[in-house]
Amino acid sequence: AQKFGIQEALELLGIHDINDGTSTGSKHFSSGELIESYSPVDGALIAKVRTTSAKDYSQVMDTATAAFKAWRTKPAPQRGEIVRQFGQKLRELKEPLGKLVSYEMGKSYQEGLGEVQEMIDICDFAVGLSRQLHGLTMHSERPGHRMYEQYHPLGVVGIISAFNFPVAVWAWNTALAWVAGDVCVWKPSEKTPLCGIACQNIAAEVFKANNLPEGISCLINGDYKVGVFMTHDKRIPLVSATGSIRMGKIVAQAVASRLGKSLLELGGNNAIIVSPDADIKMTVIGAVFGAVGTAGQRCTSTRRLIIHESIYDRVKEAIVTAYKQLRIGNPLDEKNHVGPLIDTDAVKNYQNALSKVVEEGGKLIVEGGLLEGKGYESGCYVRPAIAEAKNSFEIVQHETFAPVLYLLKYSGEVENAIEIQNGVVQGLSSAIMTNNLREAERFLSAQGSDCGIANVNIGTSGAEIGGAFGGEKETGGGRESGSDAWKVYMRRQTNTINYTTQLPLAQGIKFDI
Ligand code: NAD
Repeated sequence: AQKFGIQEALELLGIHDINDGTSTGSKHFSSGELIESYSPVDGALIAKVRTTSAKDYSQVMDTATAAFKAWRTKPAPQRGEIVRQFGQKLRELKEPLGKLVSYEMGKSYQEGLGEVQEMIDICDFAVGLSRQLHGLTMHSERPGHRMYEQYHPLGVVGIISAFNFPVAVWAWNTALAWVAGDVCVWKPSEKTPLCGIACQNIAAEVFKANNLPEGISCLINGDYKVGVFMTHDKRIPLVSATGSIRMGKIVAQAVASRLGKSLLELGGNNAIIVSPDADIKMTVIGAVFGAVGTAGQRCTSTRRLIIHESIYDRVKEAIVTAYKQLRIGNPLDEKNHVGPLIDTDAVKNYQNALSKVVEEGGKLIVEGGLLEGKGYESGCYVRPAIAEAKNSFEIVQHETFAPVLYLLKYSGEVENAIEIQNGVVQGLSSAIMTNNLREAERFLSAQGSDCGIANVNIGTSGAEIGGAFGGEKETGGGRESGSDAWKVYMRRQTNTINYTTQLPLAQGIKFDI
């Protein structure tokens, strides 16, 4: 049962004045124009948020830079303790924050709660990590010398995030960056600014309770123009940017032109290979959830099903039958499977994709279309669609951020399916459904999937925080979250110490003076 209405949720998250975002977490530095946040759920205006002007941005950077000087001297396990407290606050506010995520972004309430759970999980991960920011010790080739490497904080980390994971992606970055000793400046998507303000309020409370400067976490609001402040700013050694490939190419060039580092998490074009040895029931669950979950607005959403010709008709029929049972509607109602798209522009992209696939010679076997009438007033609800297509179609090569699934056929061996799976510019998530060990291992081998994520007998959608998350090729190559992804938030230093009274040179070089 849901305990709060949206207004109560906003109150609990410290968002009181909904007509002017200056009364919220970004109050100190917001003098720009107002942007309006509409819910795709019912089309209602939720609140207005003040954006960050160039002058505000410069104040934010002064605050962040000053906070870094204090924060970097705090021992990492003590920084971990602050992240632990932040995770605790998230546990307390999980329901209102999950509700805001659902209402502002349009994903289901369960997925909204799931996103907050991911934030909590990455905090726990980061707390443990705060005692494990290990470097290596090496043997020096010179007698009486010691050599080791250590990791130091980088400085101000810029985070640019997409609308579809309006809170978790920030936490993946910020929890690790904070224990690493960095401070963060975050620009959330202009489509979900309230989620950003809610998170900033929660973080600010924790910093205040510990007498730490709020500048350890800074929020800037607005569209791409505000993001550009950061990509061109030499004071930001690392920009972590999540969003479209189009955005990533612009951000990468801007950051590289000043020789900064960028961590890019961009679009995917994820496929499931369905082999003759697949468990069909599992395939249908994995494929349908992957294609329609979050209304197809996950970077890991399943876009392509590559099915062996021998079982093609069976799989197609089972999936079409499953689509008939989908309930589309208010995502806050837990009975519904599919919520709205983020806005009416996204609806247009979806409609264009459906026309385009037919133009290119594809066949719609589940027609899709816009839903109208009671409960669909926002104009953002669409029916998930399925098209039979070819991998070579231009539209299939492209990520349409909506519930459109393409069925592709392969014949012969699994190599042929892998070739189709790899035959796109993106390289995020991939999966094979098979009980054949040889096929599974082939798919995971060096000749197999070229993606950052490759799964066997689970779909493409979602990931656990314990692994490094990200993809290859035009997905951008970045890795976030688990494993050793923390290293990108720190600078590595190699140290050599001579504890003798001699100064022998390396490689036996003589330099007599
Ligand atoms: P988008 O590219 O439109 O916007 C993403 C963010 O980048 C926003 O905050 C936006 O304001 C900012 N931005 C845009 N242009 C910029 C510029 N020139 N300089 C600086 N900032 C700029 O993406 P979106 O529509 O919000 O999100 C959907 C996309 O994100 C999809 O392609 C999806 O696959 C991708 N995504 C990827 C991952 C991943 O981890 N790989 C995760 C979530 C979303």
